[in-house]
Amino acid sequence: LLRVRGVRKSFGDHVVLDDLSLDVHAHQVVVLIGASGSGKSTLLRCIDLLEDVDDGVIELEGQDITDPRLDADAVRARMGMVFQAYNLFPHLRVLDNVTLAPRLVHRTSRAQAEEEAMAVLERVGLAGKARAFPDELSGGQQQRVAIARALLGRPAVLLLDEVTSALDPELVGEVLDLLGELKQTGLTMLLATHEMAFARDVADEVCFLHEGRVHERGPAAQVFSDPRQPRTREFLQRFT
Ligand code: ATP
Ligand code: MG
Repeated sequence: LLRVRGVRKSFGDHVVLDDLSLDVHAHQVVVLIGASGSGKSTLLRCIDLLEDVDDGVIELEGQDITDPRLDADAVRARMGMVFQAYNLFPHLRVLDNVTLAPRLVHRTSRAQAEEEAMAVLERVGLAGKARAFPDELSGGQQQRVAIARALLGRPAVLLLDEVTSALDPELVGEVLDLLGELKQTGLTMLLATHEMAFARDVADEVCFLHEGRVHERGPAAQVFSDPRQPRTREFLQRFT
């Protein structure tokens, strides 16, 4: 579904992604792990076309999305992206936060956007909060709203970057539980996380990023219990 081939990305003379390749198949959950600065966020941002790649190919459903002739907004609408900071608009109610992009970008009618928004809010368990303002919600609930917003429009893949790292520890669980539920519904996800226990539980495949490449990849059970590469072992030891 998502194919990344030979992607390179540098900031100045700092090479962040160096001939990086990976695949995400339909209904798969692929988790990116790696040290801070290993390029997890940069990779997700390149896939979401928030950064231009210097070289390489990124294919979504068989189409090279790095082609500059494509409309980036239209490509982005086929993916949902959720960031560490949930980026909700504080002055807009939950429902309006969720419907804003489709109404502005896709010119969806208000009635249709709201119907779809209520369906995704239902999916994240927050239909009852549609009229609330973000500051009336807990951090975990706000992040679930951000996930609902990313689910709107039925994206082919959901990209998630450290979606729990800004949350108080007691709120992390509800967001991770939600991602587990979304996996059960067959949603395809590529996510970066430092939550190793969660990665082990939810990942179909784990990719360990090191020096701009996928240094090791494999089924979660294998990578966590029996890493093949010394660097991976060294990295994982910090979490045990
Ligand atoms: P973390 O686990 O801390 O989130 P990460 O794996 O997500 O780290 P990135 O945020 O992708 O790492 O950063 C990779 C490297 O690229 C870092 O050294 C960072 O300083 C650099 N970098 C990222 N974005 C930019 C930018 N816009 N300009 C210059 N350097 C950048
Ligand atoms: Mg990051």
